[in-house]
Amino acid sequence: MTIAIYPGSFDPVTNGHLDIVDRAVALFDQLIIGVYDVPQKNLLFSTQERVDLIRKAVANLPTVRVESYSGLTVNFAQQMNAKVIVRGLRMTSDFEREFEMALMNKKLAPDIELVCLMTSLEYQFISSSLLKEACELGGAIEGLVPEHVATALAEKFHLPKR
Ligand code: ADP
Repeated sequence: MTIAIYPGSFDPVTNGHLDIVDRAVALFDQLIIGVYDVPQKNLLFSTQERVDLIRKAVANLPTVRVESYSGLTVNFAQQMNAKVIVRGLRMTSDFEREFEMALMNKKLAPDIELVCLMTSLEYQFISSSLLKEACELGGAIEGLVPEHVATALAEKFHLPKR
């Protein structure tokens, strides 16, 4: 049985993230989405909010679980008995950072493998940070996030209900 983790900040979860989840579900027996508790980023949503938004988005996937974690990602993987870390790669922007992290993780935990899934073409341009910027400025974000996430974003930015 192969268990994989999919770690990230997910601030908030987007359809790009969910595309990676769907594809990882087809590859691994169990997928545990790991929400960083304290990433070094300015976040819009609290850890509990980020967990709740993803839980709702993957509620129909029986082999997926969502947990928050702090500390090293490889330690979280080991605690979950996972042999694989899944990450999503967008066109050019993610590669260098992922490669660096992968080398560091390999040093820290040689038995854990990184599996990078290439983003589907239609989601290449979606990032949580751009999405928040567009939403705050009143841009239409339909089709980029699940409906409950669009509602949560509108509430955060005090925008009228869509
Ligand atoms: P992190 O802070 O770890 O980068 P993110 O929530 O931004 O957390 O991203 C989590 C993972 O999802 C990363 O591997 C990232 O490259 C990937 N990802 C982000 N946006 C997309 C997208 N639009 N399509 C596919 N993968 C994505």
